[in-house]
Amino acid sequence: MEYGRVTDRELESIRKIVGSERISMGESILELHSKDESFHQRRKPDVVVWPLSAAEISQILKLANEKRIPVTPWGAGTSLEGNPIPVEGGIVLDLQQMNHILELRTEDLQVRVEAGVIYKELNQTLSRHGLFFPPDPGASATIGGMVGNNASGIRTIKYGATKDFILSMVVILPSGEIIHVGTNAIKSSSGYDLCRLFVGSEGTLCVVAEVTLRLIGLPAEFMAAVVQFNPIREATDTVIQIMRSGLSPAALEFLDAPTVQVVNQFKKLSLEERPTLFIEFHGVSAAGLKEELEMVKEICGENRSLRFDSGIGREERNRLWEARYGVRESIKVNNPGFYPLVIDTAVPISKYSDMVEWGQKVVGKKGLKGYAFGHAGSGNLHMEILGIPEEKAQWQKVREAEEEIVHFALECGGTATGEHGIGIGKKKFMKKEHGASLTLMRQIKELLDPNGIMNPGKIFD
Ligand SMILES: Cc1cc2nc3c(=O)[nH]c(=O)nc-3n(C[C@H](O)[C@H](O)[C@H](O)COP(=O)(O)OP(=O)(O)OC[C@H]3O[C@@H](n4cnc5c(N)ncnc54)[C@H](O)[C@@H]3O)c2cc1C
Repeated sequence: MEYGRVTDRELESIRKIVGSERISMGESILELHSKDESFHQRRKPDVVVWPLSAAEISQILKLANEKRIPVTPWGAGTSLEGNPIPVEGGIVLDLQQMNHILELRTEDLQVRVEAGVIYKELNQTLSRHGLFFPPDPGASATIGGMVGNNASGIRTIKYGATKDFILSMVVILPSGEIIHVGTNAIKSSSGYDLCRLFVGSEGTLCVVAEVTLRLIGLPAEFMAAVVQFNPIREATDTVIQIMRSGLSPAALEFLDAPTVQVVNQFKKLSLEERPTLFIEFHGVSAAGLKEELEMVKEICGENRSLRFDSGIGREERNRLWEARYGVRESIKVNNPGFYPLVIDTAVPISKYSDMVEWGQKVVGKKGLKGYAFGHAGSGNLHMEILGIPEEKAQWQKVREAEEEIVHFALECGGTATGEHGIGIGKKKFMKKEHGASLTLMRQIKELLDPNGIMNPGKIFD
C-alpha cells in the first residue's frame, strides 16, 4: 500500500491543531521515537506530535486518513517486539502529555485516567487511598501502552492482566470518530465486548485517549519466600503443584541458576546460584498467610527443595522484587556487546516444566547462551537468548532457537506471547497460532482501518 508523506501543507495543518510547541521534527526527537527496547530495525517518523485531548487526536487522524499518512501511537517506547516503531514513517502520536488522573472514585474502586499516565505514578497516588492497579510490566510503561500490548506481570497470577481491569475507554478511530466503549459496571453482558477488542491491538485499530480502570484494595498483609532446588525440574514441577493445590499466590516467579547469578552480581544479592522460586502471598491476616506458606513449604519439601527462606521482611522483599524486575538489565550488563532476544511463550500450567526443559535443550543444542526465568505461576516463560544481530550466522541460530521454542509452546496449546505482544518480532507465528481466525482479525482491521494508517506493519502485514 502506498502511503502519503507529511509535507509542509500537513505540517501547517497539524500546527493549527496543536500549536507549534507540540510538534517536532528535531533529529533527536525523531531518533528517540525510532526505536523501542527491541533489536528491530529503527525507523524515524516524519514528525512527532504531542496531543492534549481526544479532540486533537481526532483532527489529526482525520487529516492523516484523508492523505493515507501512517500514524503510530506512542506511550513510553518500552516494548520488546518493535510494537511502536513507525516502520512506514509518518506521524508518531506521543501521548505522554496526556498524563492526568481525571477522576478517582475511591468508593467504586475505580479511576479514570488519560492514556499517557505512567502506571507506577498512578500506583503511588492510589496507595495513599489504600488502592492499587495490579498489572505491573516493570518498565515505566504508560496506561495506553499497557492497553496496547495487554501488559501483565508478576501479580497477574492472582489479579489478572491489563484487560481484566478495563471497564471503559474513550478511543479515536482512524476516521477521527471519538467513541466511548464499555461501562463502569463491574459486570455486563451487553453486546460485543469492544474494550477487549481494542486491548492488545497495539495501536493498529485506534488511539486510546482515556481509560477507566477497576482497582483493588491494597492487601493488609504479605508474606514472601525464596525457595531453591536442584535440578531445575524440581523447581518447575513445584510451580505446577502449588497452582493445583488451591493456593492463590500473588506472585510465583522462576529463575534458573544463570539468572540468579547475574542478578546476584548486578543487584548485590547473595542468593545461592540454583534454580529458584520467588513466592508471595497477599491476604488480610498474618495467621492466614502463615498457614498458606506452611502448605507451600510442604509441597516444596515433597519436591526436595534445598532451601526454604520465609519470614522475609519488607526491605528484603522489596530488594528481591527489584532484583526480579531488573533481570533483563542484569543480563545486559553482564554480557556487554550482546543483545538478549526475549522469548515470551505461555503454556497451560501442566506443560510448564516441559516448556522450560525444551527451551534449555534447544539453546544448548545450538551452542547458545540463554537465561530462563518467568512468571511461572501463569505458565509464562521468558528465555533471553544472547546473540549479536550484526553477526548474521550466529543471529540466525538465535532466531532458529526462538522458532523451535515458540513452536513447542504452540503445540502445547500455548501462545507465542504471554505479555509483550506481536509487534514485528512475533508476526511469523500468527498463522500457526490463530489459523482461520487470523482472517477474521484481518477483516476487523480492514473494517476499522480501511486505509491501513494505524501502526502499519504490526501484528500482521
Ligand atoms: C526491562 C523491561 C521489562 C519488561 N517487563 C514486562 C513485563 O513483565 N510484562 C509486560 O507485559 N511487559 C513488559 N515489558 C514490555 C513493556 O514495558 C510493556 O509492553 C508496556 O506495556 C509498554 O508500554 P509503553 O507505554 O512503553 O508502550 P509503547 O511501547 O510506547 O507502545 C506499546 C504499543 O501500544 C501502542 N500504544 C501506545 N499508546 C497507545 C494509545 N494511547 N492508544 C493506542 N495504542 C497505543 C503502541 O503503538 C505500541 O504498539 C518490559 C519491558 C522492558 C524494557
